Amino acid sequence: MSKEQKEFGGTIGAIGLMIFSHFVPFYFTLSLRYNSGGLYFPLSFNEFIENFKETCSPTWSAFYLYTGFCLLQLIFAAILPGLKVKGLPVPTENNRQYTYNCNALASWYLTLILLTIFHITGIFRLTILVDQFGSVLCVAVICSDILSVFIYFYAIQTNQTCRMTHSPIYDFFMGVWLNPRVKILGQDVDLKMLAEVRLSWLLLFLLIVSAALKQYEAFHIVSWPMIFILTAQLLYINACMKGEECIPTTWDIFYEKWGWMLIYWNLAGVPFVYAFQANYILVNSLRTQKPTEGTSMILIIVLFIVLFFAYYIWDSSQAQKNRFRMKQRGTYVPRNTFPQVPWNTLKDPKYLKTNCGSTLLIDGWWKYCRKPHYTADICMATCWALSCHQWPGVLPYFYPIFFFGMIIHRYTRDVSRCKTKYGKDWTIYCEKVPYAFIPGLI
Ligand code: NDP
Repeated sequence: MSKEQKEFGGTIGAIGLMIFSHFVPFYFTLSLRYNSGGLYFPLSFNEFIENFKETCSPTWSAFYLYTGFCLLQLIFAAILPGLKVKGLPVPTENNRQYTYNCNALASWYLTLILLTIFHITGIFRLTILVDQFGSVLCVAVICSDILSVFIYFYAIQTNQTCRMTHSPIYDFFMGVWLNPRVKILGQDVDLKMLAEVRLSWLLLFLLIVSAALKQYEAFHIVSWPMIFILTAQLLYINACMKGEECIPTTWDIFYEKWGWMLIYWNLAGVPFVYAFQANYILVNSLRTQKPTEGTSMILIIVLFIVLFFAYYIWDSSQAQKNRFRMKQRGTYVPRNTFPQVPWNTLKDPKYLKTNCGSTLLIDGWWKYCRKPHYTADICMATCWALSCHQWPGVLPYFYPIFFFGMIIHRYTRDVSRCKTKYGKDWTIYCEKVPYAFIPGLI
């Protein structure tokens, strides 16, 4: 078994990140409840415990809501029609290529249709999610922790581990199982894809819709900042679903193992932390009873313009790269998913042939810088935070700051992996495309 180099500061870093990641969503939830999304400082430890119990105690209804949602997505993943896509050969499994049934888009549309019908008819009011936010969060955290422990021991027990370092805490954090799959109703479902694409983003969208509906119930309007955050998340999440067939060959799927880091952030972190802005707008609307006062319409217009522009670069650049790679492998299938933005498929693009056999795109957006999609993503994250401008505060900016740190760290990990993979060719690539994020600048 190969010895893997440790990332994230090794075992100590892993412990620190696990503690921090547990702290963040609960702190945000308490800040929303007890200080309208401002910094939350309980007067005593007892007060903190009382607040925590009052807001975040797990309940049976929260348990049914969360596990029901996950189960429904698991069943949809097994039964709905989708595009069958082959992943990359897995070197640790004799170059086996797994098949992925990319049906997230069908699942996304069906979930939205069902929940709209349920909400309108009153069978299931979506506002229950925002009412029980803390309890559902607590259930999600418990479920993701239990699942991480189970997956860790199950993979070891069944000999399905790969790239182990033999530092148990670090391995638990990074994961030990590369391709966790289960058979549901006779169909193979890839749990890592399910969690990454649907459980995280779909639940996030439902939490945001829930906050918007709550605002509508209270005031019979949805404010512009709320419409902005809904639009921003809708675009982002829809893009994850419509481009699912590009995901099996991405880094997360062919390289990252399904450990605590991915499980926790997909099942609990992303939906509950990234929903902060919508909840911030909601609680402050309710506190002031003035959902529109203080909105700068000029800023909202600027935010919409920046959002659409950044989204366009983000979507088209990723499509360019992924479709280029798929065409090279002969796996490209045109899909008419909505929306198809202009310039998302390059005809005869320039690329760099490398000695390891892979090719690097140096055309389209990729001739200007090496990570155009990261820059666009940072812009979108900043816009999310600025949508909370009506009630100035610090915590809405946590997301862009966290995202910036996370993506820069991801960039350094990716560069070191690419340097190892491509060797001298990576230097040639960096000479051809010298800027990483902003052409002419950095
Ligand atoms: P990339 O899409 O940049 O994938 C990196 C890999 O792509 C490299 O390891 C390399 O793999 C290949 N590659 C790099 N340059 C080229 C090139 N010029 N031509 C062809 N292939 C190339 O990274 P991520 O998976 O990190 O990001 C995908 C998206 O997900 C980004 O938009 C990012 O912002 C977003 N993201 C969002 C998160 C969130 O929480 N909101 C979290 C993480 C990511 P190889 O050559 O080995 O195939």
